[in-house]
Amino acid sequence: MTNLPGANLHLPEGCMAGIAMHELSLLENVREILEDHAQSQKFSKVSRVTLEIGKLSCIEPEALRFGFDVVMKGSLAEGAELIITELNGLGRCQQCGQNTVMEVLYDPCSHCGRPLTVVQGMEMKIKDLVVI
Ligand SMILES: [Zn+2]
Repeated sequence: MTNLPGANLHLPEGCMAGIAMHELSLLENVREILEDHAQSQKFSKVSRVTLEIGKLSCIEPEALRFGFDVVMKGSLAEGAELIITELNGLGRCQQCGQNTVMEVLYDPCSHCGRPLTVVQGMEMKIKDLVVI
């Protein structure tokens, strides 16, 4: 088992139309990262991939599951198990300094109602890999 700290994937700002395409390109990104790490860390097969997805990232876990097998086919992660964990959104209020759990991107501060600055939940990363 190997951890890939810092293997954050680039996400576009905000939500995009054409969600399915968006997930497919993210998965292609994941595949490239896996192939890079396979070379540098000398493994040849991935049997399980755990992805962590922020709830504010607009990524659909179902679309990822749907696309995973297709994108990984023919790669070192063909047939790998996909596990998706979700990370809560969290925002910090500039006005009162409190943190609020965010369900959607434009949730206001639960203490004073002001807009929040997102501090967690916009990201997607490869959290864990099981390799052979
Ligand atoms: Zn506040």
